[in-house]
Amino acid sequence: MKFIETRGNDGQSPLQVSFSEAILSPMSSFGGIYVPESLPQLDASFLEAHIDTSYKILAKDILTAFAIDIEASVIDEALDLYDAFDDSSNPAPLVKVNDDLYVSELYHGPTRAFKDMALQPFGCVLSSIAQTRDENYLILAATSGDTGPAALETFKNRDNVRVACLYPDGGTSDVQRLQMVTEDADNLKVIGVHGDFDDTQAALKALLVSESFNAALKAQNIKLSAANSVNFGRIIFQLIYHIHSYLELVRQKAIELGDKVYLDVPSGNFGNALGGYYAMKMGLPVEKILIASNNNNVLTHLINEGLYDTRETSVIPTTSPAMDILKSSNIERILYDLYGDKRTKELMLQLDTENYYQLTDKELAMLQGIFVADFCNDEEGKKYIHDTFADGYLMDPHTATCFKAYDTCRDKPLKTIIYSTAEWTKFSPVIANALTGEKDAHDIDALQAIAKEANIDIPEQINALFSKKVTQKTLINKEDIEKEILAFLK
Ligand SMILES: *Cc1c(COP(=O)(O)O)cnc(C)c1O
Repeated sequence: MKFIETRGNDGQSPLQVSFSEAILSPMSSFGGIYVPESLPQLDASFLEAHIDTSYKILAKDILTAFAIDIEASVIDEALDLYDAFDDSSNPAPLVKVNDDLYVSELYHGPTRAFKDMALQPFGCVLSSIAQTRDENYLILAATSGDTGPAALETFKNRDNVRVACLYPDGGTSDVQRLQMVTEDADNLKVIGVHGDFDDTQAALKALLVSESFNAALKAQNIKLSAANSVNFGRIIFQLIYHIHSYLELVRQKAIELGDKVYLDVPSGNFGNALGGYYAMKMGLPVEKILIASNNNNVLTHLINEGLYDTRETSVIPTTSPAMDILKSSNIERILYDLYGDKRTKELMLQLDTENYYQLTDKELAMLQGIFVADFCNDEEGKKYIHDTFADGYLMDPHTATCFKAYDTCRDKPLKTIIYSTAEWTKFSPVIANALTGEKDAHDIDALQAIAKEANIDIPEQINALFSKKVTQKTLINKEDIEKEILAFLK
């Protein structure tokens, strides 16, 4: 399987690249990204043959169908990381909420958020490609919460890869910050930056184009890669759980093989939803994909009106911060798939220069053939958390946005899979507020309040954080980031 470019070829970059090349250098011509040249087809017999297989065997057979240039032994080692999830035989359990509604819980990995589903195996694969090529990589990450802990956890003590992770001091939850600053490994550097997430992200972008920084990396023979979801190495592990969740519905006798379902996805950078789209294109019986947003509702407007518009808007902080995004990177892969590389280049260029683009009626109709969308504000989300808890299901504020889309976006009585992207422990103050009215609680108090209310235990991974030694104490101004990272690389 080869990978090609969403914005076409500039005559200098290679016309196509292998999977491992697309992973190591995820950016392509004209600022585009890589997509698979074609998708393998999984017919009814493939699904039928996997009704009784484990998650790992399903994953292995899907990856084999992609024919990627990764050794079978490396794939096995990567997939073995799912053994450390709560239930080693089923890393992503599907929980029934009512007769029509099931939740696919994607947060049972080491950092209690869905980023682990892809980043756990991804880290193992990236490190092994780097070792085989005898190359050294630096992953730079700016995080407002979930990506940082998951990236640190996966690359911890892995050879040939170092990670420098920037977070805005005061801009993450206590749990998220503790997950980062208690990571102890020689190849990891965590840096708190004075400022908000935008400052941190801007500082990272400046670093990527800094001549002195790039010269210093070159002198040390260190290359840059990326662990965000523009990297197809993450997406490939994400389409698997959509197929798994469908098969779980069959196993639970909620549907018969071949019945269509709705997928309902809380979306930000659109990696999760893109995985669902690819699964659908590969043959999974999906009626529509519901795209749930919060008040940062650029995707709702795109899907309902064909207008992608960030001219008048800036990011609005919400109670579902992992979805506080205006530029949703993986939409580009949808544009490519539906309208081709020329049009994608045109639209993305317009977005870069004029901060908007408008699809034609015909293009919009194609998009609406696949996606439906709605957004959920914080007050509505709080009510969904409260009412759903009263019905017996505890969820986080990202997952809650899907309940609005579930209520407004379906026109057929088909079973729906909502994807739950974070455990309640990651956003406990918001949940405690929804359940008990408690305001401005610290994480530890909110965790205890919810545990009591729901009569459950705080998971050990989270509880232990509060007594773990803080090893990453760097807290600096953004002007000092370059110096700090170069010192770490020495
Ligand atoms: C990253 C994240 C999302 C958004 O997922 P995308 O794949 O970027 O659309 C939603 N919820 C949580 C908790 C996340 O960490």
